[in-house]
Amino acid sequence: MSAPVIALSGITKTYEGEGDAEVHALSGIDLDIFAGEYVALMGPSGSGKSTLMHILGCLDQPTAGRYLLGGDDVSQLAEDELAQIRNERIGFVFQAFNLLARTSAQKNVELPLAYRGVGLRERAERARDALTRVGLGDRLLHKPSELSGGQKQRVAIARALVQDPQVLLADEPTGNLDSKSTRDILGLFDELHREGRTLILVTHEEEVGARAGRTIWLRDGLISDGRPLLEASV
Ligand code: ADP
Ligand code: MG
Repeated sequence: MSAPVIALSGITKTYEGEGDAEVHALSGIDLDIFAGEYVALMGPSGSGKSTLMHILGCLDQPTAGRYLLGGDDVSQLAEDELAQIRNERIGFVFQAFNLLARTSAQKNVELPLAYRGVGLRERAERARDALTRVGLGDRLLHKPSELSGGQKQRVAIARALVQDPQVLLADEPTGNLDSKSTRDILGLFDELHREGRTLILVTHEEEVGARAGRTIWLRDGLISDGRPLLEASV
């Protein structure tokens, strides 16, 4: 079998709490994810899902442990090196979209390319392609306030895809959407999976988990074998 895209070993994350209290958000995560997998990350609130996603997305660093992304150790990089990895190799989709409000869909999607110094013309073309890919080819100049929730999330997905990242990460991407937009966005993730993208989604929704090829359950900062008993028993 080929090497995993993501290989975690012994990942822990401890936050300073009030006074002397520490919060052990992750207590030793070992996990391999392979190219083309569609993984759902599930578990109760507070179990460490967002903490793990932020580490996977190089938005935060582990307290201890090793994270190999495409074979490169990214667990102890300086902030500017991390920013470069985020920009070039990771697509991240947030629950609240995180778009620039006064900026067109196209300019929002161009942003990661602008940071990287891609020229105006290529930037515009690639942003248009990405927006067309997510079904928004006719909404290029709309601002977020002129788009529905589902359309906003499509813009965010286009922004995440525009650099052709190694992994696409999404933390509760349908958490702010109505049921129709949720189905819409899930359909788009299905298509991206069929195209061979590597997807990792955090979700509370069984429906989302059911679409993924593999579900990973977190509980108290650890991967639990199968579905947590507490949730399954009622
Ligand atoms: P989930 O996404 O599964 O709801 P989180 O990863 O957000 O869980 O949180 C895991 C644990 O870490 C929780 O106990 C939470 O309160 C704590 N936590 C998360 N972020 C911080 C932070 N920045 N500072 C202190 N504690 C945090
Ligand atoms: Mg969370």
